[in-house]
Amino acid sequence: MRYVSTRGTAPVLEFEDAVLAGLARDGGLYVPEEWPQFSADQLRALSGLSYADIAFQIMQPFVDSAIDDAALKSICDDSYGSFSHEAVAPLQQLDDNLFLLELFHGPTLAFKDFALQVLGRLFDHILAKRDERITIVGATSGDTGSAAIEACRGRDAIEIFILHPKGRVSDIQRCQMTTVTEANVHNIAIDGTFDDCQDLVKAMFNDEDFRSQQNLSAVNSINWARIMAQVVYYVSSALSLGAPDRSVAYAVPTGNFGDIFAGYVALKIGLPIERLIIGTNTNDILARFMETGEMDARDVVPTLSPAMDIQVSSNFERLLFDLYGRDGRVISQAMTAFRESGTMTAPTEVLDQARALFAAARLNDDGIKRQIAATYEESGVIVDPHTATGLHAATACAPDLSVPVVALSTAHPAKFPDAVEAAIGVRPSLPPSLADLLGRPERLDTLPNDLAAVQNFVRERATN
Ligand SMILES: *Cc1c(COP(=O)(O)O)cnc(C)c1O
Repeated sequence: MRYVSTRGTAPVLEFEDAVLAGLARDGGLYVPEEWPQFSADQLRALSGLSYADIAFQIMQPFVDSAIDDAALKSICDDSYGSFSHEAVAPLQQLDDNLFLLELFHGPTLAFKDFALQVLGRLFDHILAKRDERITIVGATSGDTGSAAIEACRGRDAIEIFILHPKGRVSDIQRCQMTTVTEANVHNIAIDGTFDDCQDLVKAMFNDEDFRSQQNLSAVNSINWARIMAQVVYYVSSALSLGAPDRSVAYAVPTGNFGDIFAGYVALKIGLPIERLIIGTNTNDILARFMETGEMDARDVVPTLSPAMDIQVSSNFERLLFDLYGRDGRVISQAMTAFRESGTMTAPTEVLDQARALFAAARLNDDGIKRQIAATYEESGVIVDPHTATGLHAATACAPDLSVPVVALSTAHPAKFPDAVEAAIGVRPSLPPSLADLLGRPERLDTLPNDLAAVQNFVRERATN
């Protein structure tokens, strides 16, 4: 399988190079040259298989001959073997036609583990084969950092440095990162804000000498392998609900559009998906786009669902690429204009296509608390603030659907105890495996908000 850039001019790459590249050289994102197809019979044959086996079957055509089947199979087995629930992604019924897909049974209690557990192992496999090493640098405001660290800990070919703003992440979030003791994991608390951390990371990537000396790489959500791994739980959950003989709708708490785009890919490869419902918080650029056809970026507002506090959803470009007839030149022009002016208007035929499949609803912080309380009252289930936006969108956008609606539950409620307690007066507790998290010894270094200091720190510790 070959991969092309959404902006049309970067080199066409094979799977392994697309994974290592992350962002394409023309600023675009890599997508498969064509969508593999699964017939109804092929999908039917997957039902009853374990999650890891379904993962192997679904990912195989995307990976193709780049990685041999036995190696890919063991990557799938190992990735999902670390999950605490036997079903890996269990479904819970909330109402006649409403289901919750629990995606928080991975090591860091959020759905990002589904993709990053695979990505860490893919990196290791590819790098070992090539006898190369990489240095991963990333900034986190909380959740992505821990999932990335968990995915890369102890991997021979990877040195990982995660910057977080000192004193500005929650205790749980900090300890999920700093209590990891493997020597290849480096936590850096920066005297500054999340934006400062992000600027330092960008500056390291923009320093060409440093970038090539250290062989810098990133694990952010534009990496194709992350999308690929997320397609699997759409397939496994739809099969449980009667697909391919019945179609299913999904409601997805959305930030960078990676998760819901994986749902779109599931549809493209043959899964009968009736509708994809976008849940947004107050940062509602996607909901406004669905209403008007205009992308109009505003300032990011902090909310109770911080992983969705995003204005420009990078993976939306992958959808636009398809909706604009896979014309990289048009996407390139549109994205350049959007970056310069902060707005972009889609032609009617593009908007009509988007609306035929997608719907969207927004929920502010008061609404999030009300939704957490209502779900708790009606079904006794405690959901986190991100999941609440998806549940709201499910009921707001699918009241008359005759198909089952699956709301993706993207984080364990105990990751956001303050918001949950404010909504229902109950403080959710961490699962037993993490109950002693806050008492474990921490390892981190504090550095000033200074590029030279951070670069020296990386140079001294990376083994490239
Ligand atoms: C990252 C994240 C999201 C948003 O997912 P995208 O793929 O960025 O749209 C939603 N909920 C939680 C808990 C997350 O960590």
